[in-house]
Amino acid sequence: MSVHPFPTASNASQNTSDAEFLAELKKGFQRSGTEFARAYYLFATARLSKAYNSQEIHDRYPVLGAKETVDRLQTILKAETLAARQGDPQESEVHHLFVSAIEKYLDGRLAKENDEFENELNQLKVSVSELNLKDDKGELITELLYEDTPGYLKKISNAEIRQALYDKKSQVYQEALSGKFIDLLRQENTLMSELGHPDVRDFHSWASGHNFLQLGKQAERLLQETQSLYTERMSAHYKARTGRDFKTQATRADISYTLHGPSDDMADINAKFSQENMVPLAQKTFDRLDLRFSELAKPVDFQSMEEYNRDVVEKTDNATTPVQRILLDIARREGKPSRAYVYPATIPSEVYLSVKPEGGLDDYLSFFHEAGHAQHFAYEDPDNGYVKNLMGNNTSTESYAYLFQNLFLNRHWLEHEAGLSQEEARKVVRKRALEDLYMLRRYSSKMLFELGLFENVNDPAYTMDGQGERYAELLTRGCGFRYNPGGWTSDVDARFYVADYFTAWSLEAQLRQVLCKKFGSESVEEGEDWYLNPKAGEFLKSLWKQGNISQLSLSKQLGYDTPTDLTPLLHFMNRNL
Ligand SMILES: [Zn+2]
Repeated sequence: MSVHPFPTASNASQNTSDAEFLAELKKGFQRSGTEFARAYYLFATARLSKAYNSQEIHDRYPVLGAKETVDRLQTILKAETLAARQGDPQESEVHHLFVSAIEKYLDGRLAKENDEFENELNQLKVSVSELNLKDDKGELITELLYEDTPGYLKKISNAEIRQALYDKKSQVYQEALSGKFIDLLRQENTLMSELGHPDVRDFHSWASGHNFLQLGKQAERLLQETQSLYTERMSAHYKARTGRDFKTQATRADISYTLHGPSDDMADINAKFSQENMVPLAQKTFDRLDLRFSELAKPVDFQSMEEYNRDVVEKTDNATTPVQRILLDIARREGKPSRAYVYPATIPSEVYLSVKPEGGLDDYLSFFHEAGHAQHFAYEDPDNGYVKNLMGNNTSTESYAYLFQNLFLNRHWLEHEAGLSQEEARKVVRKRALEDLYMLRRYSSKMLFELGLFENVNDPAYTMDGQGERYAELLTRGCGFRYNPGGWTSDVDARFYVADYFTAWSLEAQLRQVLCKKFGSESVEEGEDWYLNPKAGEFLKSLWKQGNISQLSLSKQLGYDTPTDLTPLLHFMNRNL
């Protein structure tokens, strides 16, 4: 792989004009982004390299996260803002470069502590000798890796054992890592303060374009408006799954078993989502929308580095006219992660989409989700440049991903394309809708918690004491399952990502409703057959080619005032449950 030599922090910030400095930064972010994507793909998926050394890549581009870079970008941004006087900061390239440089700076400053934390988490063990758990071979398990416990919690049908395993897992984490997690949060806040942004909530709101005040209100509204429907449906589902009473007995330990555990009831339906049919079903669906998925996403299976370099690196780096290409890796290699992921290396010619198909509803959902991201990236116009295509927050691209994931909430598609009976389609929609409503209420509660967590953070008397109680109260109220105070330190998303997900849900519902109304048939209930109309694909492509547009821009183009208008989402939720 050829590597572009890059100026160091000092000469970049002193000897160049602003325009040259910005151009070099863009090139650096783009080149390092490509290198990260390739290194990860070769290591985790293709298994052609033995180690993933991200530090090496970071080290090649020291200017990207240097303090001088952050300072200089801030100066340029101030001048730009003064000159423009108004306008959406999300439209400014300097804004995105500045936010990315701050993130790189924080990542760099906290790299050692973060790595230590991750390593300790990876090695954390839970002693389970009294629980009588057996592995696949029927042998008694005495110790589990902390990271493997969720898989067991999903499978264990005995409520007492589930609870005991959850309590042990929780205790181990709190003893080893809770304090370190709080320290990391504190250190990041201190660094932000030193950079001149003592109020992290304010900074992230400005950086992401989310209006946190409005989001908090919408979260409250959603919790109130879906409270009785949720309690009624979840109580019935919990009773059917566990034989227990939801209001008095349900706890955090029960959630994944209740929603995703093995169930005879779903066996016939899961069998219809076979390993082999996953990619063909996606091809059929997306091709009919005229998205040319079979053509863009040809399966790859590289046997050697020579083959990879020839087919990928050279074709991307030396292309005179960029090819549109999704590198679809569905090979069943040992050690390859089974869960689908997407990694855009270069727009539009090198978008990795990897999955090791296992079959079943949950596996299909995640593949359709990632295929949504992959097609968005592949259809971005390369002339937009790196900043417009790949920087900014994830809300819009998440809503494109949810759009395809939510074909599994579309009765018409489930019946006519996925081969389910009318009754089965209805059952899948009800199940999916309940899972989504749970997630939505969980994210609403998490968001309220995280917004409160950083309230008055720059007050000298600020403390994180008492946050556990707030967490337990909010999450228990929202989800109906009883949460413990100790769990909060393993349930905070960095830098308010929670707001992206929450907003993507309402934004996707806006998009879906527009597609149904504009492109569905009048004879079909609510226009659910929109996915058969190539004009719907054309409309999507017209959005995608604009790049990674802001959530506000997407919502406005769909005819709404704000991405957090919940009306379409609540409509779908009420209809599907
Ligand atoms: Zn996603």
